Amino acid sequence: MSLAPYPASAFPKERTAIVTGAASERGIGRATAHHLARHGWAVAVLDREHSASQAVAEEIAGTYGVPALGIGADISDRSAVADAVARVDAGLPQLVGLVNNAGISSPVPFLEVSDEEWRRVIDVNLTGTFHITQEAAKVMARHSVGRIVNISSASAQRGGGVYGRAAYSASKAGLLGMARTLARELGQHGITANSVSPGSIDTDIMGGRLSDDRKSMLLQELPVGRIGTVDDVAHVIEFLLREESGYLTGVTYDVNGGSHIA
Ligand code: NAD
Repeated sequence: MSLAPYPASAFPKERTAIVTGAASERGIGRATAHHLARHGWAVAVLDREHSASQAVAEEIAGTYGVPALGIGADISDRSAVADAVARVDAGLPQLVGLVNNAGISSPVPFLEVSDEEWRRVIDVNLTGTFHITQEAAKVMARHSVGRIVNISSASAQRGGGVYGRAAYSASKAGLLGMARTLARELGQHGITANSVSPGSIDTDIMGGRLSDDRKSMLLQELPVGRIGTVDDVAHVIEFLLREESGYLTGVTYDVNGGSHIA
């Protein structure tokens, strides 16, 4: 008797991943969209920056010859997100992957956090991720196959990070809890849910490149001796979206160069 390596859930050859927050030029999302397209995924680039989303989608379609769609949507807006997922469902190959990458930081010390600042961060990082995950998971459940990856942060695990303080860390810790719960609840629909938790990655999330001073401070805490790159994160996300990763669910991959070892 030969044992099939995976249950016969149909992981389609032609399949789509939505990557949120994939429009920023030096960001983790854009790098992830590229990695996925290189591995044959059709990609929906969803970002609040409409024209940049379309530009990244065109760049991906032109480079890899896969279908790609750029959609301008704010993930904190439920109806915009529902419309976006409906467009993906109607216009691209079967939706299998969702990378919850869109996020904003907040460096405000706890005693100074206003209600507005708290809501600004939670509305995007946590509630926005809830919106798109629920809309996308309904489509995945219809097909009995799906891969969800939440981008958390080392800040959630170690109690604040280089940029993120309480509101940011709370939102990112919430994403870890959400992914673990989805792993239990959605497994019956053939959907896995995992988290990737980056340490300091050289992007523009705080509005520009890392200063040399900041870099040398970070390097002191990094056993691998260098700052993380967007590709370090993107390739782990692509790995978690593979068919072969179907036995991984509810896990957190720390991509932090050893800055936080749990
Ligand atoms: P980035 O600022 O380059 O990219 C974030 C993207 O999200 C941008 O394109 C932005 O337009 C988009 N976005 C923000 N709010 C949105 C909304 N409401 N709706 C739709 N899109 C929205 O940042 P990055 O460093 O590439 O960060 C990507 C993710 O990785 C974030 O969730 C961040 O918290 C997380 N992260 C980053 C680091 C790091 O060191 N850079 C570390 C840990 C975790």
